[in-house]
Amino acid sequence: MFTLHRFHGGLHLDAHKEDSSLAPLATAPVPPRLIFPLQQRGGQNAESLASVGDHVLKGQVIARGDGPMNPPIHASSSGIVSAIEPRPLPHSSGLADLTIVIDTDGEDLALEAEARPDYRQLAPDELRRIIFESGIVGLGGAAFSTAVKTDPGHRAIDTLILNGAECEPYITCDDSLLRNFPHEVLEGARILMQVLSVERCLLGIEDDMPEAIRALREARAAGDYSNIDIVKVPALYPSGGEKQLIRILTGREVPTRGIPADAGVICQNVGTAAAVFRAVVWGEPLIERIVTITGKGIKNPGNWLTRIGTPIADLVRYSGGYSGVAERLILGGPMMGMSLPSDALPLVKAANCVLVTGRGETTGPKQALPCIRCGACAEVCPVNLLPQQLYWYSRADNLERAQEYQLPDCIECGCCDYVCPSHIPLVQYFRAAKSELVAKQRERSKADHARERFEARQARKEQEKLERAEAAQRKKAALAKPDTSEIQEAIARAKARKRAPEPDATAAAERADNESPKAQEPAEN
Ligand code: SF4
Ligand code: SF4
Repeated sequence: MFTLHRFHGGLHLDAHKEDSSLAPLATAPVPPRLIFPLQQRGGQNAESLASVGDHVLKGQVIARGDGPMNPPIHASSSGIVSAIEPRPLPHSSGLADLTIVIDTDGEDLALEAEARPDYRQLAPDELRRIIFESGIVGLGGAAFSTAVKTDPGHRAIDTLILNGAECEPYITCDDSLLRNFPHEVLEGARILMQVLSVERCLLGIEDDMPEAIRALREARAAGDYSNIDIVKVPALYPSGGEKQLIRILTGREVPTRGIPADAGVICQNVGTAAAVFRAVVWGEPLIERIVTITGKGIKNPGNWLTRIGTPIADLVRYSGGYSGVAERLILGGPMMGMSLPSDALPLVKAANCVLVTGRGETTGPKQALPCIRCGACAEVCPVNLLPQQLYWYSRADNLERAQEYQLPDCIECGCCDYVCPSHIPLVQYFRAAKSELVAKQRERSKADHARERFEARQARKEQEKLERAEAAQRKKAALAKPDTSEIQEAIARAKARKRAPEPDATAAAERADNESPKAQEPAEN
C-alpha cells in the first residue's frame, strides 16, 4: 500500500472535463500558415537561422537560442519562410516580438530522422544532448528546458516523478495522451531514469482519470516497467503543482526558494516524457503536442494532436468554430490561464489548452471590495503563505516585506482569488510584484556585473602599475651597482693568459702572486 501525504489547503473544483475528454483524440490538419515566436522562456530571443524565401522542411531547426535554457525551434511542417517580423505574442500583455512565419506547402516534407531504438547504450550526457537538440521543454505549462532540468549537478537524485495529475478544470490533454499513448509515456520515463541514473519512478495521476489509469496499468503489465509505480492521487486542486505532487507522493518538502532536486526529486510532465521518447527513439523533434480546446464558447470541444505554431483561429475552425455564446479566450485553464486578446496568436510548446468560455461560464473580473481580513485566502493556500499580507505589501510596493512573506514561493494557483469574498484580484497583484522583483534582481545583477568588471579592471591597472614600478626599481638598482661578474671573468682570463707561457718552476710562485688581493684589484686591467 502506497502512503500518500497531504499538502496544506487546496480546493475541490468542478472539473468540467467531460466535454473534451469524451471526444476521441483527433489529428489537426497542417494549417496554411505556421507562426513561431523567437522569444522563449527565461532567455533572450532565439536567433533565426532561416531567411525570408527559404524553403524549410519539417523538423528543420529554424532558430537557436543563446544557451541551455533555450533549446532550438524546429519547423513543424515544410514550406516557405514568408516573413520574419514582429507579431503579437501569446501572452496577456499582447506585446509584439519577432516571429518566423512559414507558408506551408501542403507536402509536409520532413528531414530524415535518426532513430535510436537501442538508446540503452547511450550515456546520460548524450541523451541530454539529444533532448536539447530536439527542442524539448516542459509541456506542463512552464516550458522549462528539459535538458537543464535533467542535469541536477551536484544534487543527489533518487526519484523521478511523472506528473499526470491534471488538476486544473477543463484541461484534458494529459488524460488524452495517457489513454492513447501510455507506452510512449512509460518508455519516456525509462529514458529519463537512464538520464538521471535513478532506479525509481512514481507516476502520479488523479483518481478521476479512470480510463487513463487503466491504459497505463495495461501498458505497464505488457512491458518491463516494474520500477515505475502508477499512483492514484486524490483529485484536489492544485495536486498537479510540482511541489504539491512531490509532497503527496514522497512526503518531502521542497525548501523555500529551492527546486525539486534539493529534495532529491526531478519532476516531469507526462507529455514531456512522451516527447523525450519520440526524440530519442524516433529522432523526432518537438513539433507537435496534444492541445485541449473546450468551453461553452466552442462548438465541438476535444483534444487535437496539433502542430506547434498553429494559429488558435485554425484550431477553432477545426473544432467547428465559436458557438453563439463565446465570451473570453483563455490560454490554459480558468485558474492559471491567461486571457488572450486575439485568436490570431499561435500555439507554442507550452500551450496545453484553449478555453473559450461561454456567457457566465466562468467568473470574469468583479468589482473588488476592501479586504475584511477573513483569512479564507490563507486557509486554501497550498504553499501555506499569507495572501492577505502579501496583498498589502504588493499593493504598497513594499517588495522587501513581500519577500519576507515568501512572495517568490507563490505558485499563482489562484486558490486565494477563488475564495476571496471581496473579489480582490490577489494573483494579479502577486504576478505584478513578482515581475517587479525579477526585474529588480536583473537590474541588480547587471549592476553587480558592471561593478565586478570595473573592480577587475581597476585591480588589473593597479597590478600593471606595480609591475612597472618594480621593473623601474630593478633597472635603477642595476645602474647604481654594476654587475661585477664580468670584471671577475676578465680577471680570470688575464690570469689564465699569464699562466700559460710560464715555465713549470715558477708556476707555483706566479699562482701565489696572482691569487694575492693586489692581483685581484681592478687597476690591473
Ligand atoms: S480572503 Fe480576501 S478578504 Fe479575506 S483576508 Fe484574504 S484578501 Fe482579505
Ligand atoms: S496564488 Fe499564491 S498566495 Fe494565492 S493561494 Fe496560490 S500560492 Fe497561495
